[in-house]
Amino acid sequence: MADLIQLLPDHVANQIAAGEVVQRPASVVKELLENAIDAGATTIKLIIKDAGKTLIQVIDNGKGMSVTDARLSFERHATSKIRTAEDLFNLHTKGFRGEALASIAAIAHVELKTRQDEDEVGTHIKIEGSEVISQEVIVVPKGTSIAVKNLFFNIPARRNFLKSTTVETRHIIDEFNRVTLAHPNISFSMYHNGSELFQLPISNKRQRLVTVFGGKTNEKLVPVEETTEVLKISGFVGKPEYAKKTRGEQFFFVNHRFIKSSYLNHAINAAFEGLLREGTHASYFLYLDVDPKTIDINIHPTKTEIKFEDEHTLYALLRSAVKHSLGQFNIAPVLDFDHNSSMDTPYSYKNKEVLNPKIEVDRSFNPFNDQNSNGFSTPYKKESTSHWESLYVGLESKGNASQHDFSEAQFETDALTSSMFDDDESAKVIKTFQIQNKYIVNTIKSGLLLIDQHRAHQRVLYEQFLQYITVKEAVSQQLLFPLSLEFTSTEIAILQSLKEQLEDTGFIFSKLDKDIVELKGVPVSVVESNVSVVLEQLINDVENEVPDNNFSQTDMLAKSLAKSLAIKTGQNLTELEQEHLVNSLFACKEPSISPTNRATFITMNVEDLDKKFN
Ligand code: ADP
Ligand code: MG
Repeated sequence: MADLIQLLPDHVANQIAAGEVVQRPASVVKELLENAIDAGATTIKLIIKDAGKTLIQVIDNGKGMSVTDARLSFERHATSKIRTAEDLFNLHTKGFRGEALASIAAIAHVELKTRQDEDEVGTHIKIEGSEVISQEVIVVPKGTSIAVKNLFFNIPARRNFLKSTTVETRHIIDEFNRVTLAHPNISFSMYHNGSELFQLPISNKRQRLVTVFGGKTNEKLVPVEETTEVLKISGFVGKPEYAKKTRGEQFFFVNHRFIKSSYLNHAINAAFEGLLREGTHASYFLYLDVDPKTIDINIHPTKTEIKFEDEHTLYALLRSAVKHSLGQFNIAPVLDFDHNSSMDTPYSYKNKEVLNPKIEVDRSFNPFNDQNSNGFSTPYKKESTSHWESLYVGLESKGNASQHDFSEAQFETDALTSSMFDDDESAKVIKTFQIQNKYIVNTIKSGLLLIDQHRAHQRVLYEQFLQYITVKEAVSQQLLFPLSLEFTSTEIAILQSLKEQLEDTGFIFSKLDKDIVELKGVPVSVVESNVSVVLEQLINDVENEVPDNNFSQTDMLAKSLAKSLAIKTGQNLTELEQEHLVNSLFACKEPSISPTNRATFITMNVEDLDKKFN
């Protein structure tokens, strides 16, 4: 049989490699910014059009390239940054694979202009899909400009796969922030569709954070500083009272490189233990400097994980440094500085979320009471016998609601009508009661109806907001004084992209620009004190849910608002409120599921109950 194996032509190999390196415009941004930093630039400008789909350009004042290097830089595995395998373990640059430019050039129209300081003239190269179109001499300032146009022009599937402008811009800003926060000693600017999004002068870490995240950031920061033989930690954590509902502002930089590490994140959470409101996340901006020999970043070109030689020690040091800072700045009430750090690293918790322990208290427990004073009894005894009647609380009013034909066919959720309720009662008030401030219980023909109050209300609000947005009939409440809220410019960019829909739900903006949001009115269902939480949640949802067209953006907005505004589990409801909720739920188009597709209620028919009694 003939030999079948052939080497792939370079442009094909490059396209395949490109799939690894370039997932979206933000990946190009990251690679170009990192190259500019590696080139020693002190001023870097990023220009974007249409979320990078039309243009991504990075202009730097770094060391530039010679004619030969300019041409070579587009070859695969062409790099000036490492020469031998050993160099891999002593990396001081961001790049080292020599893959990025080759990959980008394989799937876009690339234009490179570059000049070294010592040269009179520079080089101008145009490449389209790995093919050199032209190479000329050019007069340019010292440094490099690389413009990447029409990304994925030759891979329509990838191009179509790109998300909305909002989402892709969001990814680009995320990359930009990660790079700019890691390098406060470099001046950066960013422009999108001709307007300036960021202008970051050379500064220190604190000033950089304040310029990126807005004026009030300064007072929220607690400095963290620790130097040991293996590691230097510097940076800031956010004061606990400013903890956010979102995980947005959590940054680790190792040797000026943004990384993600759930293990180290756990160390910070451990340091904050007991200081945060439930459901909030500490912000942190921590810079770790370690010997490059002790880390391995060679895992994957686009991944942000790295391997540490001694994760254990790192965990303990980080935890105690943060704890120490919180204590020094009078934030943590109780401190234990002299714990043994080696006892401190909970291996089994490595990738786990921190859960607050649940505390159950039995208020009726009396240690001197004969019934449980055998000396071994548990204090968690649920019901003392004298309280057994309480099991029936709320049932008195139910009367004889159960005198019905129990052979009735099983209740089907999708064939839901009012006939589900007892015939004689459906016309009147629906009698309900709450259990554990969580479920609303109601008797129906076939047995019992149990409604999850939080999910049910989400459904009701969700349909209401969808209606508002599509029919544009929302009612706003005017605020006596305009409400100013602080958001970062990235967050404001998200709000701007949703402005129209938000207005349709009843928000009235008097200002929504660079660093301020000012509201004159809010939807009637939103309490003023709750506005910032609602918007914060919304931004978080936009970031995480990645809606890709206008329809799903509306849908997501409605879901997000419904989620943050729905009555919570644990909230006591009056009988009238319960009744109103039940009525509104069953007036919905799809009462049986929450906006996130979970059951809003369950039914238990008498056969089910009978089985339980067997
Ligand atoms: P890597 O960064 O891994 O070396 P790249 O494909 O990103 O690979 O870049 C290839 C080479 O091109 C780099 O090693 C560097 O020598 C050169 N280069 C790329 N961008 C710049 C720049 N902005 N300024 C100077 N040289 C650059
Ligand atoms: Mg590179």
